[in-house]
Amino acid sequence: MAEVKSVNQWLYKSSKCAPQQALRDLRLAWDRCFKKIAKPPKFKKKYRKDGFYLEGSIKVESNRIRLPVIGWVKTYETLPTGIIKNVRLTRQANRWFVAFKLDHTPPVPIKTSNVIGIDLGVKSLAVCSDGTTFENPRAYRRLKRKLAKLQRTFSRKVKGSNNRKKAGLAVAKLHYRISCIRKDTIHQLTSWLTKNHGTIVIEDLNVSGMLRNHRLANAIADSGLSECRRQLEYKSKLYDTKLIIADRYYPSSQLCSRCGHRQKMPLQERIFNCQKCEMSLDRDFNASLNLASLAVSSTVIACGAVHKPSTQVEGLLRNKNETDSYRLV
Ligand SMILES: [Zn+2]
Repeated sequence: MAEVKSVNQWLYKSSKCAPQQALRDLRLAWDRCFKKIAKPPKFKKKYRKDGFYLEGSIKVESNRIRLPVIGWVKTYETLPTGIIKNVRLTRQANRWFVAFKLDHTPPVPIKTSNVIGIDLGVKSLAVCSDGTTFENPRAYRRLKRKLAKLQRTFSRKVKGSNNRKKAGLAVAKLHYRISCIRKDTIHQLTSWLTKNHGTIVIEDLNVSGMLRNHRLANAIADSGLSECRRQLEYKSKLYDTKLIIADRYYPSSQLCSRCGHRQKMPLQERIFNCQKCEMSLDRDFNASLNLASLAVSSTVIACGAVHKPSTQVEGLLRNKNETDSYRLV
C-alpha cells in the first residue's frame, strides 16, 4: 500500500478503508468462485456499479449522517438511530445510497391466522388459501415500451457527448423505477404473510429452470419470484413464522382440493374442474388450498401416491442480514 500511495497522490484524499475492503471483497469473490458458487469476479470500472465502504466514527441524526473523510451528508429519508460501525455507499441512477447494519429485534407480532398456503405465479403474484390475491404489478411489462423508447434515443446520441450522458441517465432512472415498484410489492406481500400467519406453505419453484423457457422468462423475471422466496425465508425467521416449502414435484395444481383426485392441468386452463366430484375452482386458488393442507399433514396421501414430506426451511436458511439502503440528497 505504501508503495502505491507514494506514486498516486490522490489516494491520500480517500479513506484507507475503501481500498482495504475492496481487497477483502475480492478475496470473498475468489473464494466463492473456487467453490463453484459464483463466476470469477469482473474488473471494476468507473461509473459502473459505483460503490465503496467506509468505517470509523459514524454519527447519525434524524436526516443526516456523518461519514469519515466526507463529513456530514444530508439524507432524503429519516435514518434509524443506533450504533453504526461501517457503511456502504452505492450509486444507482445517479443517486447515492447509504446502507448499514443495525442490531434490532422486532417485536413478534400476534398472528391472526394459523396456516396459509400460497401459490406464487405470474398472472397474480400470489393467490392465498384464505382468498386473498396479490396482483402482479408487472412493472417491466407496463413500462417496457417507454424503456425501449428511451434506449433508442440513447443509442442515437453521439458517443461521449453530454446529451448521451443525459439520455443514459433517463434509461437508468426508469430501470430504477421498475425495480422499485417490484421491490415494494414483494416486500408488502412477504411482510403481510410473515407477520400475520403462523405457518406458511409455498411451492419450491424451479425459477432458474423456468427462466430457460423463453415464453415465460420475461414474465417470471418481472414478478421476482426468487426474491419473494428469499424474503419469506429471512422474514419468517424474524417474525417467528414456520415456513414450509413443498417438494418441487408436489402436484399442487393437479390435485382436487376437495377429494384429492389428480388430473392433468395444462397451463392455459385457468379453472380447475374436478372430473370426480365436479368441483370447480380457480386454478391458483385450488393450488393454494392444496399447499395449505400440506401443513396439516406432513405426509400427503393423494391418489394413492405417498408424497415426500416437505422440506422445512430451517436447514435451508441462508444466514443473511437484510440491510436497507437510504437515499442521500
Ligand atoms: Zn374432486
